[in-house]
Amino acid sequence: MTADGADQTAEMLIHLARLAQSGGGDLTSAQWTALRFFARANRFSRTPSAFSQFHATTRGTASQTVKSLVAMGLLERHRSDTDGRSVRYDPTPAGHAALRRDPLMALVNALARLPDEDREKLRRSLAAAAGEVAEARETARFGTCDDCAHLEATQDEGGYCRCAASMLSPEELGALCVDFGPRTASG
Ligand code: SF4
Repeated sequence: MTADGADQTAEMLIHLARLAQSGGGDLTSAQWTALRFFARANRFSRTPSAFSQFHATTRGTASQTVKSLVAMGLLERHRSDTDGRSVRYDPTPAGHAALRRDPLMALVNALARLPDEDREKLRRSLAAAAGEVAEARETARFGTCDDCAHLEATQDEGGYCRCAASMLSPEELGALCVDFGPRTASG
């Protein structure tokens, strides 16, 4: 049994997601999702493996998507010697330029017009729902440091991640993370 309107809301979310991703020109919706993910994720998460969990796809499919973006000059591969994960991918200047014509901006602009309180309530509700579905699928739950149980406050404006045993800059606190652990069960 579903609560009143829950099924219609779920259908509307799927409809909205598909609608918002249409009109992407020369990139597929998977390529746009990957480009956006690698621009938004933190240094621990910019890997094909983390992207496969974010996009709910196989590791092989995620790797093919990443490779295609590298071939188009929109992502580049870097060897990491600081965080224990051997390679990560970053958007190139052309990748960042492509994101300025991201088809998702129509939805971003529509959400930006909502009252601040409604937008924050919607963000929290969707994050909680995404967490529940991720748990049911036994896959990673993505989130940012501000809501994460692994974050320790520091004297400066950044933080310390107990999970990665690393200092975080203020800019990193708002990035998507595959190791996110919600502070409460409801997130
Ligand atoms: S504090 Fe949490 S969200 Fe931030 S880097 Fe660490 S595990 Fe990821």
